Amino acid sequence: MPFGRRIAREKKTITAMMAIYCRDHHPGPKGLCVECVSLLDYAHRRLDTCPFQEEKPACNLCEVHCYSALMRERVREVMRYSGPRMLWPHPILSLGHILDKLRPAPQLKKATRGQTNKTPSDTTPE
Ligand code: SF4
Ligand SMILES: [Zn+2]
Repeated sequence: MPFGRRIAREKKTITAMMAIYCRDHHPGPKGLCVECVSLLDYAHRRLDTCPFQEEKPACNLCEVHCYSALMRERVREVMRYSGPRMLWPHPILSLGHILDKLRPAPQLKKATRGQTNKTPSDTTPE
């Protein structure tokens, strides 16, 4: 399934945030540690299956809540740390992320509601 600019940008944003977080919390060989690779892969898969795609709201405003509680907390921790550190190295991604939070969340159409991967324990990141 081809992805649009919105999802591609979100993937770049979370990838950049994970790189900042991992660099400062898990020093080691170049690149992300195994734990952060796993978290990034999870976040990318959420984006791949996000029912809103190009209309995607900020995840904290979303009515679907497709993240597990544990993963939500982990991604929120990454965003809390890396968000303020994004502006200098990634000003465009940073601005896009801020604007996304100001945009009202769309309603999920009934036709697409059944296509999500929501589970009862699922919740959403920032
Ligand atoms: S929480 Fe909502 S907006 Fe975020 S990826 Fe999941 S379904 Fe999409
Ligand atoms: Zn790491």
